[in-house]
Amino acid sequence: MKKSVILVALIFMVVVVFASPELKAREVEARGIEFLKKAIEQVSDQNLSSSIKTLQSFKTRNLLSEQKAVNFGIGAARRWLVREFQKIPGLEVVDDGYFLTKQGRRIIKDTELHNIVAIKKGQSQEERLIIVNAHYDTIAVSRDGKFNYEDVNTEAPGANDDASGVAALLEMARIIAPLETEATIQFIAFAGEEQGLVGSTLYAQKMKQQRKNIEAVLTLDMIANIEDGLGYVDSTRVRVFSEDPNDSLSRELARYVRRTAQVVLPHFEIELIFRSDRFGRGGDHTPFVLEGYPGIRFTEARENYSIQHTPMDTIDNLSVSYCADITRLTLASVLSLACAPKAPEVISERGVPLLRRGQGYDAELSWVWNGNKKEISGFKIYVRDTKAPFWERSYFAGKGDSFTFKNVSIDNLTFGVSVIGANGLESLISIYRMPGRRQAEYVFQELK
Ligand SMILES: [Zn+2]
Repeated sequence: MKKSVILVALIFMVVVVFASPELKAREVEARGIEFLKKAIEQVSDQNLSSSIKTLQSFKTRNLLSEQKAVNFGIGAARRWLVREFQKIPGLEVVDDGYFLTKQGRRIIKDTELHNIVAIKKGQSQEERLIIVNAHYDTIAVSRDGKFNYEDVNTEAPGANDDASGVAALLEMARIIAPLETEATIQFIAFAGEEQGLVGSTLYAQKMKQQRKNIEAVLTLDMIANIEDGLGYVDSTRVRVFSEDPNDSLSRELARYVRRTAQVVLPHFEIELIFRSDRFGRGGDHTPFVLEGYPGIRFTEARENYSIQHTPMDTIDNLSVSYCADITRLTLASVLSLACAPKAPEVISERGVPLLRRGQGYDAELSWVWNGNKKEISGFKIYVRDTKAPFWERSYFAGKGDSFTFKNVSIDNLTFGVSVIGANGLESLISIYRMPGRRQAEYVFQELK
């Protein structure tokens, strides 16, 4: 009896002394996942449903509809939205307002435009910004079934497009506001989306001019319809659009969302679409992408074109529980990004990737991360074939600043590195990209 006790104690000691750093890192990551799971448990179908119902009750939220009516038009919707955000302790609510004179084909009269920005300030790295957004304006075709931009008071309840996204924003804000985050999160309800991404364009340009450090833009637009016009139903998937190339910042953000969702919501599938948006359509992530920021768009798997932009876009035709699942996975991604450390840098000050051939047949990665290493669990290396859609292998690299792969082709693989916080939450993966080349110029004379 005694002997066996001693043996067990010995084995225990050996395990403790030699427990691999990899194993420890995995335990830390498991804590991060638990934290995210706890947060998403709070998403309430009832809250989502009540927000969508209120938003559709304003009859229309057309940018050019009534500004001053009490319970009709975009002004009433805006004032309600501001009040809802203000009810949440810990948020700063900003009215990002503009005056636009009549212009183009769609802004047929002078108008005010107000984006509503609810800010959850980061604890230690306030300058890092994560933006999650939806649009609160709507539009509908006229009785003849055609768009008539003069017809600003046509009934346009926009329950799916995009009260569903706005309801998700409010719900995420409510759950995240009491939590501590490193980075700042902005929950933005844009206006003028239906006139050509007006509100998001003005905002993205302003952010770029102010040299704001936006790490991620996640746009939710139409996330509650599950049945298409042909009768096919799908409530198990969401589409996430990201622009090419395969190693773009936006694509990497999309992969981050997919990995996060796989661990916190395994029954739900993230279908990455490798293009910037739906065919011939636009979304509020695009103005940010055009300014060089990573941006992705979430949209339901099956769309019903005969309901979109009509008075039939009401909650009766939607699935709130589907909308809740998309809210959950978006919430987990946003929270994880905001609580994780800043991603490592993989480009030198001269703009050259910190990647070398080493002895000739190796790949030596190194990175720069300016933070307190006591506050991290360690770095993680990722590898995939250049053609592969997703990362194929990962390695825990401890707290060092470099990692060497022996006998691999540096030319045929894509490498990335992330950092995992002491809280188990992981940063975006920084990718080693080929630097662009310029055509060389030589001095010469043509031979006669
Ligand atoms: Zn929309």
